[in-house]
Amino acid sequence: MLDLIIRGGDVVTPQGVMRCDVGVAGETIAAVAQPGALDGSAARVIDAGGKVVIPGGIDPHVHMQHPWQLPDGTTLTTKGPDHVGRAALWGGTTTLIDFAYWRADGVQAGIEARDKQFVGTAACDFAYHLMASSDPPDTHLGQLAEAIQAGYPTVKIFTTSIFPGRVGRMVDFGDIWEIFKVVAKHGGLGVIHAEDNDIVMHMYAKLIREGRVGFENLAEVHNQLSEDLSFRRVLRLAESVPGTAIYMMHVSAATGVAAIGEARAKGLPVYGESLHQYMLHTAEDYKLPNGQMYHTYPSLKSREDQKALWDGTLSGAINCVATDELCCTLAQKTAGRRIDDTTGGNSGVEPRLGVMYTEMVVRRGYSLPRYVDLISTNAAKIMGLYPRKGAIAAGSDADIAILDPTRRGTVRNEDMHESDYTPWEGHEIFAWPVATILRGKVMIEDGKYLGAPGDGKYLKRKIPAHIIAGPAL
Ligand SMILES: [Zn+2]
Repeated sequence: MLDLIIRGGDVVTPQGVMRCDVGVAGETIAAVAQPGALDGSAARVIDAGGKVVIPGGIDPHVHMQHPWQLPDGTTLTTKGPDHVGRAALWGGTTTLIDFAYWRADGVQAGIEARDKQFVGTAACDFAYHLMASSDPPDTHLGQLAEAIQAGYPTVKIFTTSIFPGRVGRMVDFGDIWEIFKVVAKHGGLGVIHAEDNDIVMHMYAKLIREGRVGFENLAEVHNQLSEDLSFRRVLRLAESVPGTAIYMMHVSAATGVAAIGEARAKGLPVYGESLHQYMLHTAEDYKLPNGQMYHTYPSLKSREDQKALWDGTLSGAINCVATDELCCTLAQKTAGRRIDDTTGGNSGVEPRLGVMYTEMVVRRGYSLPRYVDLISTNAAKIMGLYPRKGAIAAGSDADIAILDPTRRGTVRNEDMHESDYTPWEGHEIFAWPVATILRGKVMIEDGKYLGAPGDGKYLKRKIPAHIIAGPAL
């Protein structure tokens, strides 16, 4: 007996788009069948005629319940996995990957601290990348090995402090080398924020000296050369430790796309992520009203860079489009006005699937499977969640978004569930989720939220061997 049938939609499956019925039993997909084949066997039926049925979105780069300090010294914490998870579900996304920070008392202590915040409150499914700290002691490297084997296989590494004077996050190349040895030995994946710290700090000093400290100059600080040098240095280091798989986060420049492309051409297991901000905004947009809205680190770049990112989604250098979510108010997002005090991150988990449908399927003619790869399936594959997540197939979790492709309109913050602003205000939409299902539970339907705090569960992961063996996607 099935619990649910989603009937007659155009379903994006691993075999392509098929008009079919999806049968759900408990938390998993039990069958994908010819229309009508499952009739009469379910407790309830959702008619998906004329709709597009896709795996729930996966956003592999978000920051929830993130502590941070405004320029005036006020400390605050951004919205947590209850609020952001709910917004994600409204937008058709069912899995978010956040970060657990290594602490002085260990890697495991960082995981436990995050569990205290997330378990029992998260609205949608979630996982953490482990966030390495500066000067990690040897004990932490041992704990990293244990964590990778225990289902926490991705480790985030910063090659820059981002801001002058900030301490604790940047990892020296010697330490990265040691981390890579652990990652390679135990089947993990390095997820990297790469910028050339020397170039970035040099540009801060130079612009401050010249009195050009407005945030509209951020692209000069976090620039293309920095991405070029840092990506190549990280990738070369990874190449020197065979078996080191790398996921370059928030690629923003043509130089980054080129570096990834060259590494992949050598057969190295290297993957790329860009962000919806970088795909759709340029540094010119810093001059718009509240231009900080569009900013995240490294920085927005030029039109040529943007074109390279889009080309990368076709060449394979860019595998995922994420958000770098940081859910705060507009006043908080725009409190910093300088190159050295403007916060990164934006609100965007909710409109990501709708906005990308417009940009990929409608404006650029991408097939539905390619769109789904970029907003869900590739993240599942690279991050060790596939085929449990990112697929509509028998045996997969029943995480499903039903998109209405006749829905026309624009993104309006009054319709969103994130913050008091959205950087996507006025963006045209041509499809929007009308229902979202998380492990078999209908969470969004008919404009109503039906989920409960704690519906989201932690996802232990394992990176598959073929992802580590070479550029598999
Ligand atoms: Zn981030």
